[in-house]
Amino acid sequence: MSSGTKRVAVIGAGLAGCEAAWQIAKRKIFVDLFEMRPVVKSPAHFSNDFGELVCSNSLRSDQLINAVGLLKQEMRLLDSVVIKTADANAVPAGRALAVDRTGFSATLTERIEAHPQINVRREKVDNLRQLRERYDALVVATGPLTEKILADDLKKILGEEYLYFYDAISPIVYADSLDHDVVFRGSRYDEGEGDYLNVPLDKKSYDMLTSALIESDTVPLHPFEKSLYFEGCVPVEELARRGPETLAHGPLKPVGLLDPRFDSQPHAVIQLRQEDKAGVLYNLVGFQTKLRIGDQRRILHGLPGMSEAVFARFGSIHRNTFVNSPRSLSESLSLLSLDKIYLAGQITGVEGYAESAAIGLLAGIFCSFELFGLDRPDPPSTSAHFALLRHLRESSAKRFQPMNITFGLFPPIDMPRLSEPKRIARRQKHTLLAERAIQSIPFYARSVESL
Ligand SMILES: Cc1cc2nc3c(=O)[nH]c(=O)nc-3n(C[C@H](O)[C@H](O)[C@H](O)COP(=O)(O)OP(=O)(O)OC[C@H]3O[C@@H](n4cnc5c(N)ncnc54)[C@H](O)[C@@H]3O)c2cc1C
Repeated sequence: MSSGTKRVAVIGAGLAGCEAAWQIAKRKIFVDLFEMRPVVKSPAHFSNDFGELVCSNSLRSDQLINAVGLLKQEMRLLDSVVIKTADANAVPAGRALAVDRTGFSATLTERIEAHPQINVRREKVDNLRQLRERYDALVVATGPLTEKILADDLKKILGEEYLYFYDAISPIVYADSLDHDVVFRGSRYDEGEGDYLNVPLDKKSYDMLTSALIESDTVPLHPFEKSLYFEGCVPVEELARRGPETLAHGPLKPVGLLDPRFDSQPHAVIQLRQEDKAGVLYNLVGFQTKLRIGDQRRILHGLPGMSEAVFARFGSIHRNTFVNSPRSLSESLSLLSLDKIYLAGQITGVEGYAESAAIGLLAGIFCSFELFGLDRPDPPSTSAHFALLRHLRESSAKRFQPMNITFGLFPPIDMPRLSEPKRIARRQKHTLLAERAIQSIPFYARSVESL
């Protein structure tokens, strides 16, 4: 197939932008890769190299039994430049893939700069419409700290309410890890069974919770995050500090809910709302928090019905630029409001180094196929890549928040009822989910290599 003179501009040479540029360029399309550093500094990056890991040097687990390990293995099979560069710069880290961060970014920069189809431009982009006029397509991969003028431009294109500047994330649990003899189903004032799961707190459990929230350690804010609490993003521990009953009159109010064990209203209730279509995951409503993960786990395990809770995600509050993907993006990751402007990486509402690069990989493949007038090749529905797409496409637009990859986003698998403890049964389930996913990738890899 002839490439003609097709040209794509990729904006941002982070993990997602490098991955998207690589996938497009290998399909014989010419790429201009725009990176604002060093002309304009970011508040978190220190170097001028591409794909800088701004905090931890770990891309997390490298085991198939872990969803992010599976995602990385799929990326290897799909010729990911980010994961192959990470493998080449790996440092000993047990079961995780951690890298020498300087070597990783330097090698990634060299590989991208050496690609004959990629031209690097150290420039800041401010206006998407104007840039789009000069290219067949754009890929915007400017990350959680997208420079302000471009973020404002995107906000104008999408509408004020569909671009966010921070995330406020509540923990998510697997519903089957809760004790359903204690946690009860019910919605405030509703008749019938109700849509929510409710963790009932008597006065003693409530007081223990509020004291633990006040006494626990929080993750420090970065200097560029100092204004977050003024933006209406108040964490649950901060509410607890405002007064002993603030939570019971706020997000934990028990009004309209009766604990069926006693046929009475508890002192307070933590409500859990269904997160995914399959009903595997539930999030703790209004429980956004900056507590350290160890403290979140300890405090929540101390609550009635939650002693064996398994978490798919812990709470967090970050400075983070991301769009309302279920509302603003097509299934190809392109803007619904402007033709052939694709988004990639953390700005789409995934979270984490590997996830951001994986969405860069898919955006690059989708963009290339659509530029040649071909149908978007979706990854197999059982794969980790599709699980991330499922989050971006199927989450509730009303409550969309960023998410790491988790097995809770995969289609459930039928398992015989086993007598093993829940922890072992869960491990067996994850092994089966991983095997099912990885078997489906080679065929997909061959079909996308055909372009
Ligand atoms: C402070 C902080 C700490 C984090 N720690 C972790 C962690 O420990 N582990 C983890 O998994 N994830 C972490 N994350 C999330 C992490 O940023 C993402 O997982 C990942 O880097 C996102 O990749 P990306 O390619 O989408 O964005 P980035 O890697 O941020 O790349 C975006 C690129 O776009 C450039 N850019 C921005 N605006 C413009 C513009 N207008 N014109 C041209 N170029 C532009 C930037 O300079 C940057 O190079 C952290 C995020 C932050 C902000």
